[in-house]
Amino acid sequence: ARRIITLDGPAGAGKTSVSRRVAGELALAYLDTGAMFRGLALRLGPQGHLLPEAAIDAALADIVFSLSGCGSDTRLLLNGEALPDAARTEEVGARASKLAALPVVRRRLKLAQQALGRETDLLAEGRDMGTAVFPEAAHKFFLDASPEVRAARRVRQLAALGRPQDYETILAAIRSRDHDDRNRLVAPLCAAPDALVIDTSAMTEDAVVARIVAAVGT
Ligand code: C5P
Repeated sequence: ARRIITLDGPAGAGKTSVSRRVAGELALAYLDTGAMFRGLALRLGPQGHLLPEAAIDAALADIVFSLSGCGSDTRLLLNGEALPDAARTEEVGARASKLAALPVVRRRLKLAQQALGRETDLLAEGRDMGTAVFPEAAHKFFLDASPEVRAARRVRQLAALGRPQDYETILAAIRSRDHDDRNRLVAPLCAAPDALVIDTSAMTEDAVVARIVAAVGT
């Protein structure tokens, strides 16, 4: 079996930057599963989650997911193309979260994620990697942080992307997305029983990466 490490947690817990670095240090491909949901949200448009199930299913059947590069440079491609920066906004995140509550979406994307995990060793990042998609993973991590810390980090990230947003707006958006992600009926966000939970609120990114690499061993 392939070597799989899972890293789950709520929005803004620092998963993406930590995942890239850990994948680099451990020479694993990095799978950003949020990008799959965001890519679908972009394709379906603002009211995508209200479309008939068959239309959503057809849109999903039309997307080929692949990985290029390796380690911290791994890119997830949708039909050969990287996800545009426009997909990184909170607005697209909220749409992705609505789509993520639909069983048809979870079913299709889980199969796509597992197929990628059969092709290569992976650091798989998302919400349900350790619970639903790769329950047999060798190592599982769950990153958490207070909503205030996560909102502040997201504000800095968006500013770096040239999309400044005010703190209160982002904090409200993060709270609402958390609520949706934790309370949906299918694959609600929660730590796998065998995951190491790391509260990153008062930790530097370097410390989080070091903690994970040490827990995995070499
Ligand atoms: O991680 P990111 O913020 O890019 O994810 C966007 C949304 O996609 C999340 O709020 C969540 O609802 C959904 N998602 C999911 N399962 C995953 C990854 C993302 O439900 N494995």
